[in-house]
Amino acid sequence: MNGFERSGSGIDNMPESIEIHLELSKDTLWIAAQELWTSTDIDSWIDDLVQVENITQTVIGSSVEGRPVRMLEIGNKQAKRGILVISRQHPPEVTGFLAMKSFIETIAGNTYQAIAFRKNFMTYNIPLMNPDGVDNGHWRHNMGGIDLNRDWQEFNQPETSAVRDFLNRKKAEGFEFVFASDFHSTWKDIYYPLDSTLVDENALFIFDWIEKIAARLSVDDPNVAPSVYVKPTMVSRNYFYNNHNIPAIVFELGDNADREFIKKKGKSAAEELMAIILSK
Ligand SMILES: [Zn+2]
Repeated sequence: MNGFERSGSGIDNMPESIEIHLELSKDTLWIAAQELWTSTDIDSWIDDLVQVENITQTVIGSSVEGRPVRMLEIGNKQAKRGILVISRQHPPEVTGFLAMKSFIETIAGNTYQAIAFRKNFMTYNIPLMNPDGVDNGHWRHNMGGIDLNRDWQEFNQPETSAVRDFLNRKKAEGFEFVFASDFHSTWKDIYYPLDSTLVDENALFIFDWIEKIAARLSVDDPNVAPSVYVKPTMVSRNYFYNNHNIPAIVFELGDNADREFIKKKGKSAAEELMAIILSK
């Protein structure tokens, strides 16, 4: 493969063209820039996790092509508070998914902290928001031809509507979400919270949380880019905050981030979040 002579990351380092030589045969040939985490792979990850006590799965909706939108339910079902974690609205954003996977595995883990957290708080996780896009190798869209992370105002697509309906059901039950994160990937690691001037006091802990994750990872200057608008909601974070008052963030990992670092970051993020929420 040619075309990747430039080093570094970011749009300025994009090759103008690439040339790929392929040896074709009658077998299926997969070409992917990231590890394949298809719906089948994610289903088996879910199936493994639900072997643990108090972890179950449910289907909250189905995609345009009829694939299930699966949700992990982690913790004590009597709990009245909890968190929401989603990923893979954008199909190729595998590093964000990998951080989310480590985050969820930490919450599902065997530590005293995780056990205490699960006793008091539910974690609802939709690891694969866009199963059609992932399985069909889309760059950005679902099978309705829409970028799902621009559909949280109009809700024209079944995948986003399933989450909206789920949140409305939980609201009617009196359930309170104290945090939500949407995991993505981009050029480099970056946090997109809502700006501190926009949010209520209850959402400010997100900034302390980011500092704590950075300290754990010995990152001097975490890359934080607060968003200064909340309406129109369009993206998941804005919808979570604007319509449900859930402190929310877009958690982005670099496409080329070291896989061990991603794992550590997901774990640190979960542990620091559990510590903050349990201490409130
Ligand atoms: Zn994305």
